[in-house]
Amino acid sequence: MKNIYACPHCSTVLNPSVKILLVARHHDRRGMILLSPQPGNFKYICDSTLEEGLKHGDLVAFSCPVCTQDLTSVSDHRFAELVLRSSGHDDRRVEFSRAFGTHATYVIDGNHAMVFGEDADEQDATNFFGV
Ligand SMILES: [Zn+2]
Repeated sequence: MKNIYACPHCSTVLNPSVKILLVARHHDRRGMILLSPQPGNFKYICDSTLEEGLKHGDLVAFSCPVCTQDLTSVSDHRFAELVLRSSGHDDRRVEFSRAFGTHATYVIDGNHAMVFGEDADEQDATNFFGV
C-alpha cells in the first residue's frame, strides 16, 4: 500500500515517486531534502551544503517546494507537519521532529497516535490531539 504525503497548505503530493521531497532551511542555508515515506525510517538524502552546517539538535525549517509555505506544526513548533493519505484511512497527520539528528515521528489519527523513533516521547503525542 502506497503512502501519499501531501502539503497541508496546498494539497500538492510531495512524494510523486517514492521519497518525500521538501525544502529545508537553517538560517541562510537552504537545500532540498528527500525523506522516506515509511514512518520510522529516518534515512534521508540532503544537499551537503545544508547538512555540513548542521549540528545535532538544530531546528531545521521545512517548507513545501510548491507553495513555499512553512510546514512547522501549529500544535508544537518543534515538529513539522504533513498530511498522510492512504487507502482505507481518513487523512492522517504526520508530525516529525525538526531537530537535526533526532528521530521522532507521530502519525495522528483522530485521538490515536502511532509513535516512531527512539527520541519520541509518548507524552508529546498529546500535543497533537484535538487541533
Ligand atoms: Zn504546499
